[in-house]
Amino acid sequence: MPKLRRSEWYDLARDLNWNLSYVTEEEAFPEEMSNHYGITPNERWWGWDEPYKVSYREYVHNQHGKDAAVYSVNSVVARSRMFEELDPGWKSAIIAHYGAIALPEYIAGIGESRMGRFGRAAAWRNMALFGTLDETRHGQIQTYFPYTLLDKEPRMDWAHKALHTNEWGAIAARHLFDDMFTANDAVSTAIQLTFTFETGFTNLQFLGMAADAMEVGDLDFGALISSIQTDESRHAQQGEPTVKILVENGRADLAQKLVDHMFWRSWHIFALLTGLSMDYYTPLEHRSHSFKEFMEEWIIKQFLDQFRDFGLEPSWYWDSHFVPELDWYHHALHLGVWFWRPTVWWNPDAGVSPAEREWLEEKYPGWNDTFGVYWDTIAENIRNGAEEKTLPETFPIVCNMCQIPVVTPAGYRAGKLDSPLPHLLVHEGRQYVFCSEPCKWIFEQNPARFAGHTSVVDRFLGGEIQPPTIPGALAWMGLSPEEMGQDATNYAWAHEGREAPGAAAS
Ligand code: MN
Ligand code: MN
Repeated sequence: MPKLRRSEWYDLARDLNWNLSYVTEEEAFPEEMSNHYGITPNERWWGWDEPYKVSYREYVHNQHGKDAAVYSVNSVVARSRMFEELDPGWKSAIIAHYGAIALPEYIAGIGESRMGRFGRAAAWRNMALFGTLDETRHGQIQTYFPYTLLDKEPRMDWAHKALHTNEWGAIAARHLFDDMFTANDAVSTAIQLTFTFETGFTNLQFLGMAADAMEVGDLDFGALISSIQTDESRHAQQGEPTVKILVENGRADLAQKLVDHMFWRSWHIFALLTGLSMDYYTPLEHRSHSFKEFMEEWIIKQFLDQFRDFGLEPSWYWDSHFVPELDWYHHALHLGVWFWRPTVWWNPDAGVSPAEREWLEEKYPGWNDTFGVYWDTIAENIRNGAEEKTLPETFPIVCNMCQIPVVTPAGYRAGKLDSPLPHLLVHEGRQYVFCSEPCKWIFEQNPARFAGHTSVVDRFLGGEIQPPTIPGALAWMGLSPEEMGQDATNYAWAHEGREAPGAAAS
């Protein structure tokens, strides 16, 4: 075996670029796969230099060690009663996680392999191949772990099933991930998937939720997602050198636009997934931070620093729309998801017992006035035995960009409303509705990319869902009665701190 030192062969192996003579650059790097955005010839991309260096041999060795560690935790935990003893709200958080994340991880492998073939520098293609292997591992491991729990929780099969259904959250996830990686060119994927999504938002779900998992005592899930995060933080570093090349070549405007577009979309989907899990589903005594505090730490602080380091600006909607939404958006989503609980594959945990409400008011001053009042009425209906009043009879309006229901609670706390809600746009004779100015802006920047897609409600009104009733729609979403979400604690929260009927103190 050759005994060359790593430094003697590494750069040649990872960064071997050459000029094409048998085919044109356009043939080798077609625009749909690899838009050069005016930065030609290709040599101008060859300075692409990733901060994280790894050889294939080291990669395989490291990954094998990670898998060995995390699968051994899983095999021990599978024989224990750990899962049965977890808090019901926490179980909901991980059932939601697996359905929303497992297959998109696998699909992220398509984005990585696109960069692995169509990245415009050899070092980039090399790095992206490791990313492809990472995402394949993440897809496998996050379908395998829920598989081992199937006998304890049949809805764990939504890890594999969700993305193949028309469940509304699954449509929102597919719309986002197709936009971000399956239908994206290599340069945009590097900026949107790795720089925007992975550097900022996956930290929230994978580091934030890992911290909560350890508090809750869910060693299985904690070990799993910490292991995944070590890969993400490596391949996420494809974004920085790509931003650098764009900025150096006078295309900071493009990098900015791609970030602005994907930051908002990522924010909305993570508010739905992580926001609910952290502030409502995680047991109160085990919450390490509020969702907003995690956002401040991982997004506001770190992401803004990164913007500045690379010569980008906070997005135009940062102070006007994004920061204000931190105080209300996920609370409004939570209220909606709980109310429309039959439409999700997990059991939403209301998370509004007296002690939890106190915590919410402390972390989000004004929560009681804005949201508590709705929960007061819901709780009263539950105590009066009128459960039917707490269940949906109609559908909400759904945004034609993020595909998430419009939840702005009557404008209150939603900041200054510069136009009536929902935001409307007529494009080529069709009317589109949006939950927010930034969602509308993203559409307007690129109408050809988004026009024609129908939301769940468009399909309902268009007659695609038969019969056009709530049960008809639930069946269309792939939800059998056993799979539909119910209140996670069978309404225990509504009775807490109240006398049971007929049990007056003597
Ligand atoms: Mn991944
Ligand atoms: Mn990734």
